Amino acid sequence: MKKYNFFAGPAILPESVLKQASEAALSFGDMGLSILEISHRSKQFSAVLEEARALSKELLGFGDDYEALFLQGGASSQFFMIPMNILDQNETAAYVDTGNWSAKAIKEVKHFGNVEVLASSKDTNYNYIPKGYAIPDNAKYLHLTGNNTIFGTQYHAFPETNVPIVCDMSSDIFSRTINTEQFGMIYAGAQKNMGPAGTTLVIVRKDMLGKVNREVPTMLDYNTHIGKASAFNTPPVFPIYVSLLTMRWVKEQGGVAAMEIKNEEKASVLYDEIDRNKLFKGTAAKEDRSLMNVTFVMNDEYKALEPAFLELCTNEGCMGVKGYRTVGGFRASIYNAMSMEGINKLVSLMQQYETEHA
Ligand SMILES: *Cc1c(COP(=O)(O)O)cnc(C)c1O
Repeated sequence: MKKYNFFAGPAILPESVLKQASEAALSFGDMGLSILEISHRSKQFSAVLEEARALSKELLGFGDDYEALFLQGGASSQFFMIPMNILDQNETAAYVDTGNWSAKAIKEVKHFGNVEVLASSKDTNYNYIPKGYAIPDNAKYLHLTGNNTIFGTQYHAFPETNVPIVCDMSSDIFSRTINTEQFGMIYAGAQKNMGPAGTTLVIVRKDMLGKVNREVPTMLDYNTHIGKASAFNTPPVFPIYVSLLTMRWVKEQGGVAAMEIKNEEKASVLYDEIDRNKLFKGTAAKEDRSLMNVTFVMNDEYKALEPAFLELCTNEGCMGVKGYRTVGGFRASIYNAMSMEGINKLVSLMQQYETEHA
């Protein structure tokens, strides 16, 4: 039976990418060696790294004033590397709290400077994106979580401000077009929409860096990695290679703009069914619904059927539809690599279940 991967992360990758990655695990390029056993300084891997850095910027439209890095430590390490590199002890950074990942990012700022939380949707279990708050002009940067993987909310418009936005795009990188001028920095752990776990893409405007007074440890200084073209020490060779394969695939699909159209189509089919079906309801505010993580529950009178529906999904090949602990119900993660076929399969199970139980 065909399996559809709805897991939130690590998550689905295009089949053609998995195939090329497995071939490269046996023999990569003209050396006749596995990509897992070649030097990160070989000309073959240097070409991979160079192309990956350039293509990540090209896909999103970032220009020469930005640098792309493939780092380690996950998106979670960016939570402290950002203030460590950008925020002085007497300065203030503005954050918006839209979920667990925002909250974790906020927690790290106090080690390095002041944090002002401009707005939070915590009081309603993060089911919407706060809007209309004032952004202080003196904030060094404004940190946002572009897509809230756990709660199924997403910014569909970023606030207009002269303060540079620093955005965690871990779960919606390359899923939609962005206005690059708004961003001082974006970052994304690979394992949601780009590749396997083990590398984190950072794209940073160079003038954001090198301005703090503190001593930054060498490995944690973005400028170290910029100076060495993202190969200061051994980079995560395989995750970077697979990320490159995915980025090439995005380009072949027509780029990020084409992905965005497909993602809107896929999400609307699933949300339309959630809104139509008597058994289910969405958990996120409609205007803030995520195109990547679709969160839904069963209506109160059918709540007891949730475990059995989950079992049906698993038995029918729709894997990983279980919702996050604090939200409950279901979460269908429908990243770039999810096909419309997979969406249709899940929708057909929802319809079948409605016929049987409503
Ligand atoms: C998964 C996720 C993270 C954490 O990523 P790690 O690479 O595991 O540290 C951070 N932010 C968002 C939005 C995520 O979805």
